[in-house]
Amino acid sequence: MTFEYAPAPESRAIVDIKSKYGHFIDGKFLPGKKHFPTINPATEEVLSQISLGGASDVDKAVAAAQKAYTKTWSKLSGKERGKYLYRIARILQERAREFAVLETLDNGKPIRETRDIDIPLVAAHFFYHAGWADKLDYAGLGKSPAPHGVAGQIIPWNFPLLMLAWKVAPALATGNTVVLKPAETTSLTALLFAEVCQQAELPDGVVNIVTGDGSTGAAIVNHPGIHKIAFTGSTDVGKKIARAIAGTNKKATLELGGKGANIVFDDAPIDETVEGIVNGIFFNQGHVCCAGSRLILQESIADELIEKLKIRMSKIRIGDPLDKNTDLGAINSREQLSKIQELATAGDAEGAERWSPACTLSAKGFWFAPTIFTGVTQAHRIAREEIFGPVLSVLTFRTPQEAIEKANNTPFGLSAGVWSEKGSRILWATQQLRAGVIWANTFNKFDPASPFGGYKESGWGREGGKHGLAAYLKEGK
Ligand code: NAP
Ligand code: MG
Repeated sequence: MTFEYAPAPESRAIVDIKSKYGHFIDGKFLPGKKHFPTINPATEEVLSQISLGGASDVDKAVAAAQKAYTKTWSKLSGKERGKYLYRIARILQERAREFAVLETLDNGKPIRETRDIDIPLVAAHFFYHAGWADKLDYAGLGKSPAPHGVAGQIIPWNFPLLMLAWKVAPALATGNTVVLKPAETTSLTALLFAEVCQQAELPDGVVNIVTGDGSTGAAIVNHPGIHKIAFTGSTDVGKKIARAIAGTNKKATLELGGKGANIVFDDAPIDETVEGIVNGIFFNQGHVCCAGSRLILQESIADELIEKLKIRMSKIRIGDPLDKNTDLGAINSREQLSKIQELATAGDAEGAERWSPACTLSAKGFWFAPTIFTGVTQAHRIAREEIFGPVLSVLTFRTPQEAIEKANNTPFGLSAGVWSEKGSRILWATQQLRAGVIWANTFNKFDPASPFGGYKESGWGREGGKHGLAAYLKEGK
């Protein structure tokens, strides 16, 4: 006998969404000229109107950041900067539920994840970097390493506030000031963060937020007053940025796409592995740069594991992202849904076998059922291209060497996972994988102390940990 879950919606009364937003420049909200709507992707309800920033808005923001850098922020001691970061971290914790509900409304991800993963990690990033602010002499970058000045930061829509925290916390801890552009579809939590900066009495101009589209991002990248660029997004845009700054003095970190291999050996603990595979690809609707989107499975256990995986996938609850029981929420935008549909159709056409559990998808909003493709070969598009959705491609192998070759056969190199009971086998495999982050017997675990970044087309540089600080500092003597 099975029992149905009763609806358990989180109340949205805690958030106060304005009908229109401006840019946050020099500590104040300035009205924008043109606007575009931001919607709830689960219902297509228009939530608010966001300003489309142009070159003059970027100019103002960079000027404010430069003034704040010269007059206040670079003059403060690390200990004083740290106090502001601690204050921001504590306010974020106090307002965690508000941020979680707002992120879920604007992004479509389940409240269970915003509440338990995104927002706690956001606060953790500010706490972690607050601790570094007065200890930079011990970061391994020589005595008194110096900030660059004004950092231009451009972030994607998949973890909106978390990507902001990954960028803003280390920049501020190291003494840089910031001009940040959130993604077009998910600006609301960045704008609420601007209110937190006011609440924390952060000096004006230290953090500036200009909303807009790709052209706004390009205006930040090309602005001569920007000294360092931190970008997270697609490999295509990352390449454009690399071209745009070639020959300039601008420093850059680029966190780009991925096609993570999750390798399962025949001695892996099977039930735990099934959980890890589900977490690897269905967490955040698969909108995860480091998702375990290629399952590389030892042939001798493939049938048993796929059967168990299908049973587990049948239990995934898809629906209202604000419902506390929901596992899989809405796809972030119509464009992203079309991209997922296009690649899944290519999987069918190229001869892979598609399977999804029976589930009812709402007619309103953007939805895609959790999906696996078996019989995938390395030549298939679904094995080579980033789908960025809840779609798993399953490949098999016979020898450990074959597993490594298949895993490394990708233009990307962001993440990988290894499942085995033998420590020696895990060490052997992880040493040969060309990926920036490798998990063993787990997947998608994040910590501010751990550096994150990729090989090859997954990007340049690292964010987080001691390595992440280096990107925001010039080496001291
Ligand atoms: P995207 O299209 O590259 O957009 C990322 C950001 O760049 C957005 O704010 C976007 O603005 C802006 N942008 C677009 N064109 C630009 C240009 N020419 N110059 C400067 N900025 C520009 O990526 P996305 O679709 O939002 O995000 C998904 C991608 O991000 C995936 O490939 C994923 O793997 C990657 N990602 C990587 C990491 C990592 O840490 N490695 C983490 C998360 C996501 P608009 O929003 O207005 O387009
Ligand atoms: Mg939105």
